[in-house]
Amino acid sequence: MNQASLNPCTCGDPHPHEVATRRTADGYTVHAWSDGSLTWALGEYIRGSARPRTPEQQGRALRAARLVLDLLGFFDSDELPAVVAAARRAKGDRSSTLAILRGERGGRVSGLVPTWTTLEADRDGKPTLQVWTLPRMTHPGLAVWREKGLYRVMREMPGRRGTYTDTCFTARNYRELATVLETIRIKEVS
Ligand SMILES: [Zn+2]
Repeated sequence: MNQASLNPCTCGDPHPHEVATRRTADGYTVHAWSDGSLTWALGEYIRGSARPRTPEQQGRALRAARLVLDLLGFFDSDELPAVVAAARRAKGDRSSTLAILRGERGGRVSGLVPTWTTLEADRDGKPTLQVWTLPRMTHPGLAVWREKGLYRVMREMPGRRGTYTDTCFTARNYRELATVLETIRIKEVS
């Protein structure tokens, strides 16, 4: 980190320091620094991360970094450089960043970590119906139901939280499901 010419952090600390830590969808730690740069846990710069040398660059870097922190939990570590690049290109604007990513992310299976909630169980406590609410950023209003070995993609009815209708997308195993989710991911985000 090079600071001599940069503005002090808003907290008043003139020395470079970490300002936030987050984890990617696949569990990698990311550190954000007071100069606007972003590093992995061991201090290695995230590819494409800013290395500001002027207060103007620092301001832009901080705006982009804030957005990256906001979004990175939805993405895998190998996707993060693309997120960083998009956030910088879009000058930290959320919707422009998402638009850039939407264009570039089509057709890749990643960033989706299933979190199952059991809705119904049999007498032995074995789940018979489970639901996974998909990340809103990639699959807004969608959930996956797992019942009797079948995965069904469901859509939450607008204005009726918790009420779902069938989308006709089904899969018989997780691999198939991943393909299905890839096809319908993010492109539907408006
Ligand atoms: Zn600070």
